[in-house]
Amino acid sequence: MPNDKGVKTLILGGGLTGVCIARFLHERGHSSVILEKESRIGGLCQSETVDGFTFDTGGSHIIFSRDEPVLALMKGALGKNRDEQLRNTKIFYKGKYVKYPFENGLSELPREDLFFCLNEFIKGLISMEKGEVSPPVTFRDWILATFGKGIGECYLIPYNEKIWNFPVDEMSAHWVEGRVPRPPVEDIVKSAIGIETEGYAHQSRFSYPHEGGIEALVMALAGPVMSSIRTNFTVRSVERTRDAWVVSDGHEQVTADRLISTLPLQYLARCIEDLPEDVVRAVGDLKYNSLITVAIGVKGGVPPYSWAYIPSADLGLSNRISFPSNYSLATCPEGTSLILAEITYNEGDKVSGLGDNEILQDVTATLQRMGIADEGTIIFSAVRRHRFAYVVYDLAYQDNIDIIRKYFEGEGLHLCGRFSQFEYLNMDGCIRSALDLVGRIG
Ligand SMILES: Cc1cc2nc3c(=O)[nH]c(=O)nc-3n(C[C@H](O)[C@H](O)[C@H](O)COP(=O)(O)OP(=O)(O)OC[C@H]3O[C@@H](n4cnc5c(N)ncnc54)[C@H](O)[C@@H]3O)c2cc1C
Repeated sequence: MPNDKGVKTLILGGGLTGVCIARFLHERGHSSVILEKESRIGGLCQSETVDGFTFDTGGSHIIFSRDEPVLALMKGALGKNRDEQLRNTKIFYKGKYVKYPFENGLSELPREDLFFCLNEFIKGLISMEKGEVSPPVTFRDWILATFGKGIGECYLIPYNEKIWNFPVDEMSAHWVEGRVPRPPVEDIVKSAIGIETEGYAHQSRFSYPHEGGIEALVMALAGPVMSSIRTNFTVRSVERTRDAWVVSDGHEQVTADRLISTLPLQYLARCIEDLPEDVVRAVGDLKYNSLITVAIGVKGGVPPYSWAYIPSADLGLSNRISFPSNYSLATCPEGTSLILAEITYNEGDKVSGLGDNEILQDVTATLQRMGIADEGTIIFSAVRRHRFAYVVYDLAYQDNIDIIRKYFEGEGLHLCGRFSQFEYLNMDGCIRSALDLVGRIG
């Protein structure tokens, strides 16, 4: 096997996280090499342009953050190639577009549902004040304790079971606690009687690249380190010798002083011989789901929304329909619009067995029932799949991830990124992790 000249820092994976780590090291005067298995960088943030339609293959992405320095970095990297929009998001509920978040759109519900949601929220508050509610363990407990049975059963439970493709009573509550606060009672009452209220203010204004889809952000961030990215290199083995890391794709070896992995843990684990049994088991037990993105180009316009959530299983497989041509007009040819549908699945389930045509038929039927498009107006379609889309926090997650992290920490192999840290990290979270890691080791 030919042996590459040793490098200082080797980064496995050229998604957003890998690119950002290389960039931040470069800014501190350190060189690094990225090894990426695909012919292009971007990972979940890839975008494609086909027949004049530019779509994000890993589902609809927008740029937003509470983390001001990270937000400034993303905006700065895009420079003039950035459009800004006000979020106008809906939930498609019983044939109507209801305001998002659901608890801010209660007055738009059928009256019986409004009563159910309001009454159960108040009953929940009373139980809480009487000290009758134990701290939530499962995600379902948390939904019921935070929003009440009404909002839970009408929207949060069906929607979450659709997107996670996992029962909410087998998911852990730890990741939402503290992240999503209980809505103030005044807001619930206001929303129930039809006085405007807003939730999730940090997302109310968002950016999107004018040209090139979300991948334009990764490309802009990669600018200064583009020459250190090696594509078409699938990492197949990772070995630690006495004084170096040795990484190979089966044909060629690269040696490095320092190794950072942004690969899904399931892929990394496969690359390491003699991984302790408890680590192999813990990695095997981690839960995640996969994504099908369907891009649809239509003649004419689409509703003026950013996106709409679809909790009902009866309406088809899609959990969300987005309208990227409302983020940037450059995503489609003049006189047309772009729609993205997202469907989550797991290997071996019913959806995983469906071919592209069946998926397209399902999405078309959903669009028709939502009054967005029909077969006659559709002029373009594409179906894309990503194996690793969402980390699913099941009840064994914390024990499993502790075992895995302890092992890799002991080996001195740094884990960074959505499927390497195995955390629900958005782009801003990935960039923050990359910044923090480089701050520690750079
Ligand atoms: C449906 C959906 C919508 C989203 N919307 C938003 C949004 O609106 N805003 C937001 O901020 N975030 C959003 N995100 C999150 C965002 O996509 C991720 O946070 C981010 O892309 C993760 O980047 P990463 O580099 O950590 O992982 P990845 O993108 O998964 O990168 C990992 C890289 O490793 C490579 N790789 C894998 N195996 C190997 C191997 N053996 N050898 C070499 N390379 C390998 C892969 O090809 C890939 O390039 C969304 C995610 C999803 C699923």
